[in-house]
Amino acid sequence: MQKKTNGRTCSFCGQPEHKVSFLIQGLNNTLICDSCVVNASEILKRSQVEELPLMKENSLPTPLQMKRKLDEYVIGQEYAKRVLSVAVYNHYKRIKYNDLYKKEDDVEIEKSNVLLLGPTGTGKTLLARTLAKILKVPFAIADATTITEAGYVGDDVESVLLQLLQSADYKVDLAQRGIIYIDEMDKIGRKSESSSITRDVSGEGVQQALLKILEGTRSGVPPKGGRKHPEQPLIYLDTTNILFICGGAFEGLEKIIARRMRQNTIGFTAPTFEKVDDNYDLLKHIEPDDLIKFGFIPELTGRLPILAPLEELTQEAMKQILIEPKNAIVKQYKKLLEYENVEIEFEPDAVDAIITKAKERKTGARALKAIVEGVMLPIMFEVPDLPGITKIVISADTVNNGKEAKYYFKNSIKSA
Ligand code: ADP
Repeated sequence: MQKKTNGRTCSFCGQPEHKVSFLIQGLNNTLICDSCVVNASEILKRSQVEELPLMKENSLPTPLQMKRKLDEYVIGQEYAKRVLSVAVYNHYKRIKYNDLYKKEDDVEIEKSNVLLLGPTGTGKTLLARTLAKILKVPFAIADATTITEAGYVGDDVESVLLQLLQSADYKVDLAQRGIIYIDEMDKIGRKSESSSITRDVSGEGVQQALLKILEGTRSGVPPKGGRKHPEQPLIYLDTTNILFICGGAFEGLEKIIARRMRQNTIGFTAPTFEKVDDNYDLLKHIEPDDLIKFGFIPELTGRLPILAPLEELTQEAMKQILIEPKNAIVKQYKKLLEYENVEIEFEPDAVDAIITKAKERKTGARALKAIVEGVMLPIMFEVPDLPGITKIVISADTVNNGKEAKYYFKNSIKSA
């Protein structure tokens, strides 16, 4: 049965009395419904200013300290680590300085977003994620290819901001100082160099959408996700102080760089570019114009002034990745088995076999995890049901041919 309404409605959202649980009356016959009370209290909670731990006195790590921390998780990529450490240090220094000391006529230090360029699986996402972890700032990851111009099917840029907001536990102040990693940036340019006159329109639209949040805009985010609609309350996020780290493989970019360098050296003797024999060396010579030739709109390259190339992982680096980082995959399995009082050993040949297999997949270090997981699955399945097992030894044969690993028990060996 419908409640009698008496024509009373909430003065805030306009809902009639029968559609809400109750209405509270204020002065001059103003009314507020239960759901507006809840919303208002949420807004109050969100507006309570909270400080990022790194904004406190003497708590921002120096570039050197940041790099040392990165070293614990990310193997190699020395150049990219240095560039990122300095960029991130300056970014948070700038925010701090602007908050505390900036006077009207002071020099404006511009935000410097970063573009990481390098093959897939070499640590671009890992670098961004680790930095956010070190600095204890909210972090979100987006894929540039799923972002679409407003109005098209796909994610709006707001969905990235929502992710960041969620990572900040809906605290706007914290989210506004977080880090967003945007992957696959190379996929939103023109489709190929040959289509240099007719621009790929959708690619350019996405670039425009990204440009807006990279530059700094106030964006209304629907707190529960989904499309914006008029009745939905929005949380407003200002992206001015969010650090954007973008990444992509940029295949083919090295050819553009090489061509430019060749043109620049015409007429000179002994062109230096001939010494540049791998893609990484070429990428180190990147200039914003190369990105425009690759398909970026000039404004976007302007908003990504810091360019950091990453190198292909060597055999040795892959080996290190498998074993050394704080959360190396081998260390994780060792720990898991330790809980069962079982020791695990990968013979040196087994490690080499894993690396060789991973290299064949051409997905950088990403393949390592999948291969090790494949090897470990039967073991992890069996071990909890094998009382008295003390040690497992994995050989190259286990990795290459699926031969059973050696199990050692308190008094005997099961398989050899
Ligand atoms: P991408 O460069 O494609 O963003 P990721 O950073 O996502 O690659 O790397 C995929 C996985 O490979 C990571 O989760 C990590 O385990 C491993 N990895 C890649 N590069 C490195 C590296 N330089 N040091 C340590 N681990 C790495």
